[in-house]
Amino acid sequence: MDKIFELIKKEEKRQGETLMMIPSENYASKSVREAVGSVLINKYSEGYAGRRYYQGNKIIDEIETLAIERAKNLFKVPYANVQPYSGSPANSEVLFALVEPGDTIMGLELASGGHLTHGHPKVTFSGKYFNSVQFGLDDKGLLDYKKISAQTQKEKPKLMLIGTTAYPLAFDWKKLAEIADSIGAWLVADASHVIGLIIAGVYPSPFTHAHLVTSTTHKTLRGPRGAMILATAKGVKKDPELPAKIDKAIIPGMQGGPHNNTTAGIAISLEEANTPVFKTYGKQVVKNARALASALLDGGLTLVANGTECHLLVVDLRPLELSGNVVAQSLEVAGIVANRNSVPNDTMPPFYPSGLRLGTPALTTRGMKEKEMKQIATWILKVIDYVKPYKLPEKPEARSTFLKAFRSKIEKDKFLLGIASEVKTLCQKFPVP
Ligand SMILES: *Cc1c(COP(=O)(O)O)cnc(C)c1O
Repeated sequence: MDKIFELIKKEEKRQGETLMMIPSENYASKSVREAVGSVLINKYSEGYAGRRYYQGNKIIDEIETLAIERAKNLFKVPYANVQPYSGSPANSEVLFALVEPGDTIMGLELASGGHLTHGHPKVTFSGKYFNSVQFGLDDKGLLDYKKISAQTQKEKPKLMLIGTTAYPLAFDWKKLAEIADSIGAWLVADASHVIGLIIAGVYPSPFTHAHLVTSTTHKTLRGPRGAMILATAKGVKKDPELPAKIDKAIIPGMQGGPHNNTTAGIAISLEEANTPVFKTYGKQVVKNARALASALLDGGLTLVANGTECHLLVVDLRPLELSGNVVAQSLEVAGIVANRNSVPNDTMPPFYPSGLRLGTPALTTRGMKEKEMKQIATWILKVIDYVKPYKLPEKPEARSTFLKAFRSKIEKDKFLLGIASEVKTLCQKFPVP
């Protein structure tokens, strides 16, 4: 057996025996995984259904058309493209379609939960080739719509690309649309994290407010790694050429052949999402996040925005003078896999942020409910309490050495491993689908 298969087995075991609490992660169904690993991977099909650059695409055309129809039907939109390779290419393609190099674009800054592709300065495509202006959060960690409005009036962006990976509260899409419309800007909602919650009706829908909605398909949607670009009725009304512009931006603009195996997986996940069972799932994701938040608050932790209205929450570790790195590393040893994250107005750099981000989509897929969230909160509180003495050095150059030493110290720590074995017992009761 190829060593790779041994490693896949190991990864499967890890995913089964630990708590997957990174909010962007989830477990795709067996059907989705089968489609992705199917013979569809063998076929080239540059172009679109009925107008491909290669022969032999009759069946691929049917698959892609079905995926598009399912997306249009589920989101009630006039246009869907399922070819973007992933969320980042999808956003780049939207920019390529609608703005010129040097044009002003606007988005939520990375440190406040925006994505790299929303105009993060200097080091990204979106930040380097466009005049990117960004907004942050207020002192309480909330979006300040008045301030965004004022900034928009001043900067006059041509396009606003807005979405988040860490904002625990719901977006007010109506207000954002009023702001964008007041200057005639494109409003693109990046719903990557929350698309499954929107389907379930437990998160505000951007579909009547934005012109375009982009989304990954592998997060709360539970599909394969990929993305969609959806044009709303409002978007097509603003510019009837919008669908053609998006099509062209994807190919020939930025991509070659679509990943047909992924397209099939997306089609399956859309069908799976168009069910009452999925809506129940989405509702439970939010209920679980709320239960987790309230248990952590009861345990004395500080949360950004004091709680959550979605699938994720961010613990602010500043009152404990703890580093996100120390906490995330320790939780991993305890079988709880989360990630460190910046908190609003974090004075620490993104590599050593002061927060911890936790999400419930994957745990909920395994069938865990509020009761399990309480138990998990207890473990998290215990771990945080246990590592309280370990402060990240003030001197930046001393940090990496400290964390390395810390990691090797805790890797065999009896207390943390004890929690890991309790975690494993819980996981065995909730098998991965
Ligand atoms: C995950 C995510 C992306 C990027 O998706 P990739 O598939 O990792 O490229 C973009 N925007 C938001 C808001 C995301 O959450």
